[in-house]
Amino acid sequence: RKRHDVLIVGGGAAGQSVAGSLLQRQPDLDIAIIEPRSEHYYQPGWTLVGGGVFERRETVRQMGKVMPDSVKWYHAAASGFRPEQQQVLLEDGEQIGYRILVVAPGLTLDWDAIPGLRESLGRNGVTSNYLFDLAPYTWELVQSTRKGRALFTQPPMPIKCAGAPQKAMYLSCDHWMRQGVLKDIEVEFCTAGAALFGVADYVPALMKYVEKYGINLNYQNNLIQVDGQAKTALFKVTDAEGNSQEVEKPFDMLHVCPPQRSPKLISESPLADAAGWIELNPETLQHSRFGDIFGLGDAGNTPNAKTAAAVRKQAPVVAENILLALKGEAPRAIYDGYGSCPLTVERGKIVLAEFGYGGKLQPSFPLWLVDGKEPSRFAWLLKEKMLPWIYWNAMLKGHEWMAGPEILNHRPADHEATQACDFGD
Ligand code: FAD
Repeated sequence: RKRHDVLIVGGGAAGQSVAGSLLQRQPDLDIAIIEPRSEHYYQPGWTLVGGGVFERRETVRQMGKVMPDSVKWYHAAASGFRPEQQQVLLEDGEQIGYRILVVAPGLTLDWDAIPGLRESLGRNGVTSNYLFDLAPYTWELVQSTRKGRALFTQPPMPIKCAGAPQKAMYLSCDHWMRQGVLKDIEVEFCTAGAALFGVADYVPALMKYVEKYGINLNYQNNLIQVDGQAKTALFKVTDAEGNSQEVEKPFDMLHVCPPQRSPKLISESPLADAAGWIELNPETLQHSRFGDIFGLGDAGNTPNAKTAAAVRKQAPVVAENILLALKGEAPRAIYDGYGSCPLTVERGKIVLAEFGYGGKLQPSFPLWLVDGKEPSRFAWLLKEKMLPWIYWNAMLKGHEWMAGPEILNHRPADHEATQACDFGD
């Protein structure tokens, strides 16, 4: 029977970072990761692939090269959880046991929720930076579009990297402006939401770019159907009174951010909350009902921005709390909801949104270096030159960049209900 001290479901940004953080703290820990993919992606790089700054190959590495040597890799997908038996099921029926489970399978891009979309992707001017295979097609389209109408869509929340749909738009507009063709292209941002960005402090800086590029903002415009051959997109448009109607728009280029949901692995499991995401204590990242289960990353229900930046702060918190749990102690490391969204407003400048729970601003740098509410050259250098290196060489390997997690010397007061786990063996 296979059983590990720590079993991690998902070897993406979150799963690998937790393994790295654990091994930095306890190199001989028995850790296994369940991960079906042979490649590991640096998804934040896809915006820059779509903007013609990065090559696609710079955003992928072999999973085997990312996986730490001492970690046992189950090259398969998890298919179910048996929390009472401390077991995870694999697709082939194999059962893997654990003392502590970390659940980090990311989220599901729901391409099929929009009829006509899947068969249009990659042709007929329909693209998305949300796929490794398609981000280069975004850049191809940007270069070949010289007139007509370009639509950029954003589905209902939650989505990963909520700024990514508009990042694609600003970088496209920047290119068109430099080429002198922007005046011949009608650019529209069609968002299912009611605001340009969820944290109001960043909106003025973004609005300046919306005006500079002459973008039409369409709120409460939810993409519901695509006809690639006819080059039309159908939107459900809701007005202030809540009345909806369907509006068809022709396009020459369509950049789609797909609807996103919790993976069925989670939503159909005992680990889910009512909305289908992993039910976690927002501070300790311990499961609300199972003391020997932790979760983080895009699949968690914590109300932070779903970003790799959030994972960078969550992983050491989970690692600390796992080591405490293995000793039978209650979690004491605290995550404050940090997440970050570097909004690429033009080639060479970024509005660096950094905020925690409740939209509280959490700047990492002093104001003289970066004012997150203004476009910044330093923030662009950070995104283009530094963050990819930090991701591969620090975050995934468990080296903390800047500060480590906050660790209370007592249990968090408002979580008295969270129990230390009792491992009978
Ligand atoms: P992922 O990294 O997606 O990893 C999930 C892993 O779980 C995958 O390897 C998958 O194969 C595996 N898995 C899935 N199902 C199973 C299963 N059944 N069993 C086992 N394993 C499974 N973040 C930023 O911080 N800054 C940015 O600028 C930024 N820009 C972005 C731009 C785009 C276009 C996109 C798509 C994302 C961007 N992000 C950004 C978001 C960031 O990439 C994610 O938030 C981050 O990768 C989440 O980590 P995760 O481990 O939860 O999910």
